[in-house]
Amino acid sequence: MQAQTQPWQGKFEPIDHMIAPPNSYRTASGAPGKAYWQQRADYNIKVTLDETNNTISGNETITYYNNSPDDLNYLWIQLEQNVNKKGNQDFGGISNDLKDGITARNMQFLTRAIDFPAGYSIKYIKDNSGNSLKFLINNTMMKVLLNTPLKSGSSLTFSIGWSYTITDRSMFKLSREGYEYFPSDDNTVYLIAHWFPRMAVYNDTEGWQNQQFQRLGEFALEFGDYEVEITVPEDHIVASTGTLQNAEDVLSKTQRDRLEKARQSFDQPILIVTEEEAKANEKTKTKKQKTWRFKAKNVRDFAFASSRKFIWDAQAVKLPTNTVMAMSFYPKEGMPVWQEESTKAIKHALEVYSEATFDYPYPVCISVNTSNIGMEFPMISFNGGRPKNGQMTKNAKAGMIGTIIHEVGHNWFPMIVSSDERKWMWMDEGLNTFLHQRTVAERYPDFSSTTPKSIVPFMSGDKNILRPIMTTSDNELLSQFGSNFYRKPTVGLQMLRNSIVGKELFDAAFKEYANRWKYKHPNPGDLFRTLEDATATDLDWFFRGWFFTTDYVDMELSNVTWFKVYEAEQNIENRKQNIQLKPENQDTRVATQDFSDGPEVIKMSATPDDAYGGFLSRLDEEAVRQQLLGKNLYEVNIKNVGGLVMPVTIEWTYTDGSTEIDRLPADIWRRNEYEVKHTFVKDKEVKTVTLDPNFEFADTNTDNNSFPKSESQSVFDRFKNNQ
Ligand SMILES: [Zn+2]
Repeated sequence: MQAQTQPWQGKFEPIDHMIAPPNSYRTASGAPGKAYWQQRADYNIKVTLDETNNTISGNETITYYNNSPDDLNYLWIQLEQNVNKKGNQDFGGISNDLKDGITARNMQFLTRAIDFPAGYSIKYIKDNSGNSLKFLINNTMMKVLLNTPLKSGSSLTFSIGWSYTITDRSMFKLSREGYEYFPSDDNTVYLIAHWFPRMAVYNDTEGWQNQQFQRLGEFALEFGDYEVEITVPEDHIVASTGTLQNAEDVLSKTQRDRLEKARQSFDQPILIVTEEEAKANEKTKTKKQKTWRFKAKNVRDFAFASSRKFIWDAQAVKLPTNTVMAMSFYPKEGMPVWQEESTKAIKHALEVYSEATFDYPYPVCISVNTSNIGMEFPMISFNGGRPKNGQMTKNAKAGMIGTIIHEVGHNWFPMIVSSDERKWMWMDEGLNTFLHQRTVAERYPDFSSTTPKSIVPFMSGDKNILRPIMTTSDNELLSQFGSNFYRKPTVGLQMLRNSIVGKELFDAAFKEYANRWKYKHPNPGDLFRTLEDATATDLDWFFRGWFFTTDYVDMELSNVTWFKVYEAEQNIENRKQNIQLKPENQDTRVATQDFSDGPEVIKMSATPDDAYGGFLSRLDEEAVRQQLLGKNLYEVNIKNVGGLVMPVTIEWTYTDGSTEIDRLPADIWRRNEYEVKHTFVKDKEVKTVTLDPNFEFADTNTDNNSFPKSESQSVFDRFKNNQ
């Protein structure tokens, strides 16, 4: 029926062969299956922070539950700190750009001219009876050999003794943890994360997820309960994952009273440690120690921060099924903006994310100030952004608040909806950024937030550099991962929500995915399947194009032809004097540039009897004509230049100045992926027609979106302007 000048690409074909097939562990509807299983690891850790030498040493006991159907001969354990060992670090090539002009700091990143100790010293690994277990270390992965296989359905308790030298965060480009030294008062803030040897994930999709840590691909971790004893200098304040068990031992009476008051304060934070008290603490520098004890249930990781510099504020946040203590810890260098904004931002994130998914389930939610970037852990995040001389620009403040919202949001993705970050960075960053941007848009409307339009420069970038979203974490470029793994999936979800599925259906489906996979390990296919399963919408075309290709949206409004139906054919000759009609036999449908030539006349003839086939009844053909009489019929011709199939939004501006929008689903491209026609009936006469007027679909070139064709730039002009 329709001529196609280019081959069919199957853009609407199912993606079944591109995602893992369903099985008894993961159903075809995208939910965990009847036979779904997951390993579990409980940790009991005693750790001591040595401030003089910047070292940390610990003894941990792991109880590992083998819920898999398999017997295991060995275990894999993550040793992330080893990525900082000289020779091990940066094998993915994060910074390897030697230039003739280079800053000393970049030169240090590149060459490690000033060497420093890093990486684990493993002192022992023993089973429950005190027998040593053999182990082998391959960079950031440690294989523990078992004397007898760990049978399916049984558990194993074993202990590891270890230590490492904490690294200076300023020595790395992507420093998620380490220490930060403050020369002015000779103090340090310790951000301690991926600090203890942790069980690698063993699951039905990967077997052992023992891919090396190469910095970009973050973590895959099992859930478990934690009991952690943290020994630090006596004048330090510790912020940590979990609930503090021994407040009487580590906090003063005043601090405990203030904390009690904060539990009842729902509208503003209460200071637990004031700025003056923190400044006084900076000077004490005791050599005595004390031990903080924390417990955390059902978390996949554990992190903490420790310093005598911390100011500390807290308030309660009431959610339908949980009341959470939102708390912030920051040095005086974060004042005053941290006191004004941090805990407030936590509250906003807790409320919006809980509403969109499930209530935040943990007792505390903490934001700790740091020099740069943001990094997330269960119940605690380290967030960059500091004023200079007490001042912060609006953009810097928006960046800081956005970071806090984002890192708090990671409690849902991936800390609870625990996707494999080492493999698919987009699964947590994309889904989290989607809700983070929604939180900013809803709670901070005067800050700018990501919309489909913001992805246009990335989507129209160099095809030789672009990778699909479905690219594994460490195969993406450092310059591209922010756009490809954070913003592009965000925009994709925004399009599904706002323009393709609709808010109500989409929100319910997104919530369904979050609830199906909380405390579990979802794969991309589980997300794709759930979003279709819960909406009755075939979205394979969208997932295929947006997640598996680097195609972009560029629709061209190639032509609009205006028609009118008049009275019976015999009357047309009489009418010709009165109405503006085109000369006959002229192929105006190609030549039309605007509507100035007037409408084409549709000669609607009587249907011959044999066209009705076996039907003996007849339409009231005069009624058809009467219905359309005097109306304007517009046949719109659209070309798909960019390759991505998408819904079409058409804005009509009428000659009386009013406007109207029509929407066509992406399905119009099923029969012809390159060019479609569609006819609209309008009472009013149209002046201009515009595609994607509100940038809902990230059309990369809007020069070809209008009819009459706007004064578009020539290719040369565009080239010149881009220079
Ligand atoms: Zn993130």
